[in-house]
Amino acid sequence: MSAANDDVRDAWGDLSVPTMRMLSGQSAVSRRLVKGAYVPVFTGLIIAAVLCIQGFMLWQARQEAWSRALHTGENVARTLSDSIAKNLEVVEVNVAGAQSVLESSDFDSLPQRQRDLLLFDRSVPADLLNVMLVVSRKGEVVLEVGGLAPSPVSLADRDYFLVHMRRDVGTYLSQPFRSRYRSGDPTLAMSRRVNGADGSFNGMVMAGVRLAYFRSLLDNVRLGPDSAVTLLSTTGTVLMRSPSSDGAGNVGAEVQHGGVLDRMLAYSDPFVDEGLLDGSQRLYVYQRVADFPLILAVGLATSDIYAEWNRQALTFGALTLAFCVALAFLVRGLQRGLVRSTEMEELLKKMSLTDVLTGLPNRRAFDDRLDSEVRRMAREGRPIALLLVDVDHFKAVNDTYGHLNGDRLLRTLGRQIQRSVGRPGDVAARFGGEEFAVLLPDTDLKGARYIAERIRSDVERCFMTLDSGQRLSATVSVGLVSAEPSGGENPHILVRQADEALYEAKAQGRNTVVWHEIPAAAATPADRTVLPLSPPAVSTQSPSAA
Ligand code: GH3
Ligand code: MG
Ligand code: MG
Repeated sequence: MSAANDDVRDAWGDLSVPTMRMLSGQSAVSRRLVKGAYVPVFTGLIIAAVLCIQGFMLWQARQEAWSRALHTGENVARTLSDSIAKNLEVVEVNVAGAQSVLESSDFDSLPQRQRDLLLFDRSVPADLLNVMLVVSRKGEVVLEVGGLAPSPVSLADRDYFLVHMRRDVGTYLSQPFRSRYRSGDPTLAMSRRVNGADGSFNGMVMAGVRLAYFRSLLDNVRLGPDSAVTLLSTTGTVLMRSPSSDGAGNVGAEVQHGGVLDRMLAYSDPFVDEGLLDGSQRLYVYQRVADFPLILAVGLATSDIYAEWNRQALTFGALTLAFCVALAFLVRGLQRGLVRSTEMEELLKKMSLTDVLTGLPNRRAFDDRLDSEVRRMAREGRPIALLLVDVDHFKAVNDTYGHLNGDRLLRTLGRQIQRSVGRPGDVAARFGGEEFAVLLPDTDLKGARYIAERIRSDVERCFMTLDSGQRLSATVSVGLVSAEPSGGENPHILVRQADEALYEAKAQGRNTVVWHEIPAAAATPADRTVLPLSPPAVSTQSPSAA
């Protein structure tokens, strides 16, 4: 902005409230809209809406990830437990078949080959069954089904032997152990007691199920790096786990009673808890393996369940955040631009209504105000007064002290005149050259004369100091017209009447006030636009008379 514009800006700052009100309401509204909190609030609402929608979508995606995991867990648990149950049922059929053959009276008289055929139908997968043994009542292996000759091994200390020896419990699943027959393979024994004819304990038949078979089954399931599938007994012994911490299925590891295991035994609904063997949080979906005392538990780590969702949330979250920040910056930039252009518009408007030299409203602003105030006073039936204030012998000031000092004096006088006009509704403007106009709405002749005289005397006392230190002052002549408008009059008639009064004041020797009064009766319907040129009352107020 140029220095001149800064002057205008400064000058405008000195303007009276009524002058400021000359700005149109529309500009004030647009200024409030642009500068106020509306734009940030509206932008904030948009950003909040975007975040809400994004949040809702992410929440939905999270719910879906959970449902998918649940579904997957249920499928895996069902498929694996069904498969294990089927295999164990085949083994059980073989063991039960062998038991009934052994309990028949003529078994011992049959040759080895026929015994084998009767004892074992070979429908069991070879990699599932480790060994099938007939054990005597003393715990010694008396027959290995399919084997050439029984190894001299005693199983009298095995839990399954001791159980059957005590009483008939039907099919018994042992604790996992290392096979004495097959180079220490981790094995699970499925066994039945063989009764003598009198129901006494006559040994047992036992099938050794290779736990490695379950391992290959469980290893085929891919759930995620922190998830696990576990086959465990209802007493809490792990038969196989994939993946395992020891690389061999954690066979024989004991799960603490209470917590997860008890919940699995008591309920069938999935739940979230800490891991069976470690502390990581998992969603457990589990199933009993047919009627066997076994549980197949699928533990889906929450970190695996939400791994994909986390990636999505991070990507979309970052994109949304970037969008919101970009939007906020864009709106802020646009708002700043709008504020600047609104301020510029306002400034231009102010400039167009402001006198550059004195900072007072200019002739255009004054004319607008005169028009509106005359109509307002007519509506309200109130009087109005107009003063034209002309500096006396101002040409001589210019001639003697130069135009620049003349300008300074005009500025000083303008400020003084404005100060002399007290009420908020009053307007002091630069009318042109060294003439000022003062509009006094809702003021009768008496009040207007008082103000006119105050202006005159205040100006007389006022002075400015030249660079030389010399005081420079001036006097003014005031032409005053007071009227009671009835509506429809041409307001410029008031100007003409005031001008005539001013002319008379000059004629009377200057530094004086002359007034004309136009009563309401003067404005007849015939001359609504032209008030009488010769006013009914003309009076003079000289300094001496004041
Ligand atoms: P009178 O008492 O009859 O009014 O005498 P006057 O000299 O004031 O009147 P006149 O109309 O002869 O001269 C007015 C002078 O005011 C002439 C003009 O140069 C000066 N003038 C008008 N506008 C400006 C202005 O903006 N700055 C300066 N310095 N002088 C101005
Ligand atoms: Mg003049
Ligand atoms: Mg003059």
